[in-house]
Amino acid sequence: MEKKLHIKKGDKVIVISGASKGVIGNVVEVSREEGKVIVEKAHMISKHVKPRKQGESGQIVNVEGAIYADKVMLYCDKCGKGVRVKTVVETVEKDGKTVKNKIRTCAKCGAKL
Ligand SMILES: [Zn+2]
Repeated sequence: MEKKLHIKKGDKVIVISGASKGVIGNVVEVSREEGKVIVEKAHMISKHVKPRKQGESGQIVNVEGAIYADKVMLYCDKCGKGVRVKTVVETVEKDGKTVKNKIRTCAKCGAKL
């Protein structure tokens, strides 16, 4: 079942628990099915890469592993820390029509995230 996540690809987040606690990075991948995200430079894991051709040796590379979305919070540059998100509805005039936009803001300082 797909989970609704508060994190989107490209979001700047901070890891709040686990071995990568305190790491700030951009979300590079989101898996709604698993409720997991991949954050730049967080939860680095070693991965064996199998040789593609005969005679080539396998390699071990470090890649970012997926972490549970509950372990990250959106990062607010203004507050300088992980924050809770408040969704506000912004009403804008567009081509003579009133359009409602949902925007995410920092629950503390109100900055758009
Ligand atoms: Zn803030």
